[in-house]
Amino acid sequence: MPTLEITPTTNISELVAAVPIAREVLEAFGLGCSGCSVNKSETIEQGARAHGLRSEPIIAALTQARSAGRMPPIANEDRKPARKAPGAFRSGGSFRHVVPVMSGKGGVGKSLTTALLALGLRRLNKRVGILDADITGPSIPRLFGLREPLSIERDPKDTTGQAKPLFVPAVTRSAIEVISSNLLTPEEDTAMVWRGPILSGVIRQFFEQTLWSDLDVLLVDLPPGTSDAPLTVLQSLSVDGVVLVTMPQALATMIVRKAANLVMQLKKPVIGVIENMSYFIAPDTGRRYEIFGPSYADQVATLARAPLFARVPIIPKLMQLSDAGRADEIDDPICDTLAQALLAALAALPKAAAEISLI
Ligand code: ADP
Repeated sequence: MPTLEITPTTNISELVAAVPIAREVLEAFGLGCSGCSVNKSETIEQGARAHGLRSEPIIAALTQARSAGRMPPIANEDRKPARKAPGAFRSGGSFRHVVPVMSGKGGVGKSLTTALLALGLRRLNKRVGILDADITGPSIPRLFGLREPLSIERDPKDTTGQAKPLFVPAVTRSAIEVISSNLLTPEEDTAMVWRGPILSGVIRQFFEQTLWSDLDVLLVDLPPGTSDAPLTVLQSLSVDGVVLVTMPQALATMIVRKAANLVMQLKKPVIGVIENMSYFIAPDTGRRYEIFGPSYADQVATLARAPLFARVPIIPKLMQLSDAGRADEIDDPICDTLAQALLAALAALPKAAAEISLI
C-alpha cells in the first residue's frame, strides 16, 4: 500500500486510520479526533484553521511522529489558537451571520437542534460559535461535555489597563466555540446575572466581552418563549433573522402568535422553521409513527413565511450521545440537511432584511 502523504489537504480521519500516532499528535494540538465526527469531512488545513492554528507545525509534527514512531516536542505557541481582538465585535463585524434559535416553549429540543445545526455547519467547514443565552437551562456545555470554567483574558488591544476582562470561549472537540453561563465560576455568575435586566445583560455581555474567533455563524440559543427584552438586545446586535424550533405537540396557534410577536419585536424575518421530534421510524419494521401527533410544520412555515428546514425525527442515538456529553460524535445526515438549509436561507435573504408582518 502506498504511504499516505501528509499534506495540508490530507483528510484527518483517513490519516488517523492509516497512521495511528497521528491521533495523539492531533490531540496534543487540541484537535480532538477521538470523539469527533466532523473530521471525516475535514483536511488537516481545515481542521487547523477551525481551531485557530497554523497547519505547518501540525504537519511537521505529524511527519516527524510517523518517522520516529513517537510524539515530537510541540511548542506551546503552536497550540495556542490565534484569537481576534474584540474591538470589532461591538458592530458584530467578526460574525458573518448571527442566528438566534428560538422556541415557543421549553423541551422541544431547541438546544439539541442548535447543536445539530452547529455540527452540520462544521462539517461544511464553517467556523461556528454558540452563545448559550438560555440562562434558565443552559444545556449546550452539557451536550458537548464541556466542564472547565471559562478562562478570562485581558483585551490584547487595551493599552489603558482599564478595559473589562474578556471571556475565552470553551471549544468543543469539533471546534465549536461555546459561551454559556454554565461555564462561569460562582463569582462571575453572580456578577453577570444580578446586574441590570438579567437576560439582556447576559446576552450583551457574552456577545461583546468574549474573545470570539472570526466566525461564519454565531448561533444564539435563546430561552424558550423569549420575551421582549432580549429581543430588543438581539435587534441591536444585527442578527440576520431567527430560526424557530417547534414540535408537533405544541399548539400551532401559540407558535404562530409567538412568531408574529417575534417578528414585530425584532423587525427581522424568521429565516427557517425546524420541526423536531416530528416522527419516529421503528428500526425493526421501518414503520413511521407520529408519536406527538400530526405535524404542523407546513402551516407554521407558511405563516412565518419561512422555509421549513427539516422535520427532524426522534433518533434515540441523538439523545444517548448528547445526554452523555458526546454530541461531537453525532454523525447523522440530519446535521447536513439542517446546515445546508440554513446556509441556503441566509444566502437568499435580502441584504437589508425587509420587515415582514405576519398579521
Ligand atoms: P430544549 O432546549 O428545547 O429545552 P433539549 O434540546 O434540551 O430541549 O432536549 C430535551 C431532551 O430531548 C434532551 O434529552 C434531548 O436529547 C432530547 N431530544 C431532543 N430532540 C431529540 C430528537 N430529535 N431525538 C431524540 N431525542 C431528542
